[in-house]
Amino acid sequence: MKHYQIAKPNITAKEKDYVKKVLESGNLSLGPMYKLFEKRFARLIGTKYACSVSSGTAGLHLAMIAAGIKAGDEIITTPFSFIASANCILYVGAKPIFVDINPDTYNLNPKLIEKAITKKTKAILVVHIFGQACDMDPIIKIAKKYRLKIIEDACESILASYKRKKVGTFGQSAVFAFYPNKQITTGEGGMIVTDNRQVYELCSSLKNQGRTSDMQWLDHKYLGYNYRLDEISAALGVAQLERIKYLINQRAKIAKMYHKYLKAHHHLLKIPVVAKGNVDTWFVYVIQVLKDIDRDCLIGELAKNGIQTKNYLPSIHLFDFYKKTFGYKVGDFPISELVSSRSLALPFYIGLKETDIKYIVRKLIDLINKA
Ligand SMILES: *Cc1c(COP(=O)(O)O)cnc(C)c1O
Repeated sequence: MKHYQIAKPNITAKEKDYVKKVLESGNLSLGPMYKLFEKRFARLIGTKYACSVSSGTAGLHLAMIAAGIKAGDEIITTPFSFIASANCILYVGAKPIFVDINPDTYNLNPKLIEKAITKKTKAILVVHIFGQACDMDPIIKIAKKYRLKIIEDACESILASYKRKKVGTFGQSAVFAFYPNKQITTGEGGMIVTDNRQVYELCSSLKNQGRTSDMQWLDHKYLGYNYRLDEISAALGVAQLERIKYLINQRAKIAKMYHKYLKAHHHLLKIPVVAKGNVDTWFVYVIQVLKDIDRDCLIGELAKNGIQTKNYLPSIHLFDFYKKTFGYKVGDFPISELVSSRSLALPFYIGLKETDIKYIVRKLIDLINKA
C-alpha cells in the first residue's frame, strides 16, 4: 500500500550544498547567511527591511511588541487560524477579539470588524489563511477610520497577492514562517518584514537579547529574547528562496489536479474557492465534507488506507485555555465552527503525480459514500 503524508519539504542538492558550506565554515550563528537571507527576502516581498527569527511564532511576538501592544489592549483577529496568531496577543498581555470568517475564503469577514471595535482596540491582526490573502481594501479602510495598526500573519501565504499586491506589504509589519510544512522551509524559522526602520531595528535588537547594532556582546538595551535564526537554517532558506518560483508553481499544479478530479463531486464536498483578484500560493489543500458524516472517522478510515489527512483547522476560541480565560463558548463564531467541523486537508506536497491524486480522490469518495 502506498503512503501519502499530509506535507513534505522539497530538498535538493542545492540545499545540502549550502548547508554543508556553512558547516565547513565553522560560523554557525550571526554569520553572513542570515543577512543574505534577510536581504533577498526583503527584495522578494518588496519591503525595505526583513528581520530573520527562529520561528513564525517568535516573529509574531516581536511584531506585537514593536507595534506597542500592551496589557489591556484589544486586538481584532480571526478564530480560524493556527494557534500562534492568537497566542502572540496573549504574550504581550493583550486580548484577542475574534471576528467570524468568510465561508468561502476562511479569512476574516471585514463586515464584522467594525462591531468588534472598542476604545481599547489597538490593531487588527489579519491572518492570510491557507495561502490566500484577506480582503484587504475594506480592512485598510476600517483601520484608517479608527487609527488601528494592521499586522499581517502571512505565515501560510508567501507570495500570495491581493489585487496584484503581495501579502506582507499591507501592514506595519508582517510575519512569515518556514516550518517544514510551509511553502519554503528552514527547519524552524521565520521572518518579519516591514518598511518601518524603527520596527526593524527594534525587532533586530529584541531577537538578539536586546542588543543594539552598535553594542558589545554583553551589553543590553532592552528586555530581549534569543529568537535568532542560525546560519544552517538561513542557508537552507537562501537555497529555498532561489527555487521559490518552481516550488510555488508546482503547488499550483497539484491544486489544479485536485480541482480537476474533485469538482465532479460537488454534492459531497466543497473545493477551495480563490476570491477574484487573489493569487493563492497553496499552503494546504483543504476541502469541506458536505455530507453529514463523522469527519474524524473519515480521517481514521483514510489513514487505514495510507492517506494522511488533517482537520485544518480547529477554531481557536474553543481550545480549553481560551474558553477558561475569556469565556468563549460553542456558537460564538458559527461560520468558523462550521468550517472547523467539516474541513479536511488532503496530502499536498511536491512529488504527488496525477495517478496519486486520482487514487487519493477515489479512496476519499468511496469512503464518503460508504459512511
Ligand atoms: C505556521 C504558522 C505560524 C508560525 O508557526 P511556527 O511554527 O512558529 O513557525 C503562525 N501562524 C500561522 C497561521 C501559521 O500557519
